[in-house]
Amino acid sequence: MAELNLILLGPPGAGKGTQAEQLRTEFELPHIATGDILRQAVAEQTELGELAASYMDAGNLVPDEVIIGVLLEAVGRPDARDGFLLDGFPRTIPQAEALSTDLEKLGRQLTAVLMIEVDDEEIVQRISGRRVNPVSGRVYHVDFDPPKVEGIDDVDGTPLVQREDDQPETVRNRLAVYHAQTAPLADYYEKLGLLHRFDGSAAPSEVFSHIRATIATLKLEETI
Ligand code: AMP
Repeated sequence: MAELNLILLGPPGAGKGTQAEQLRTEFELPHIATGDILRQAVAEQTELGELAASYMDAGNLVPDEVIIGVLLEAVGRPDARDGFLLDGFPRTIPQAEALSTDLEKLGRQLTAVLMIEVDDEEIVQRISGRRVNPVSGRVYHVDFDPPKVEGIDDVDGTPLVQREDDQPETVRNRLAVYHAQTAPLADYYEKLGLLHRFDGSAAPSEVFSHIRATIATLKLEETI
């Protein structure tokens, strides 16, 4: 397969970050997570960060005109030339349209949209136990995927934190925003024949083996 241009779609807490980590390792794809890019911008107090912070804290989407430029710049970098893995983008139909227009201009196209589905109740439960490494973005869960030492990242020893927008009130708003603005992308990509659905309530390793099998099939189809 010439390029592997993938999108991970799904509600917050579906396990997109965990799957992205495995996909990045296995397929050597740059993991472009707009949430991570924005959180870094907030931490560094850049112009982008100052613009985005109030939207993020409330669990609302940053305006399309702000995020689209950031994403297209990342996709255009040399390390994304042979493929990329988008996590958290697109989140609206205009974002999806901007991405496809840009890829078309570059003579590129999406390979697949991997949609991880989990119901709302399970998401609230998952997110309340989520802890992250604020430096690398690595994600743990206090019950389902705990670090070896409580509160400490296994790989680099950084103290783990709970994201500001992982508070229950904000999570409920993020879910409402997801259903209103992002879920319609499933139909959009289904019509384009790009959508593949995965049951995100399964164990992360099981979800990953299904995703890997799907990618292997796509590669095989291309060689036939
Ligand atoms: P995430 O880590 O993907 O859950 O993103 C955290 C927050 O960043 C979201 O709740 C939004 O406020 C913002 N954000 C991330 N990606 C996007 C996007 N593609 N469009 C708009 N806002 C975004």
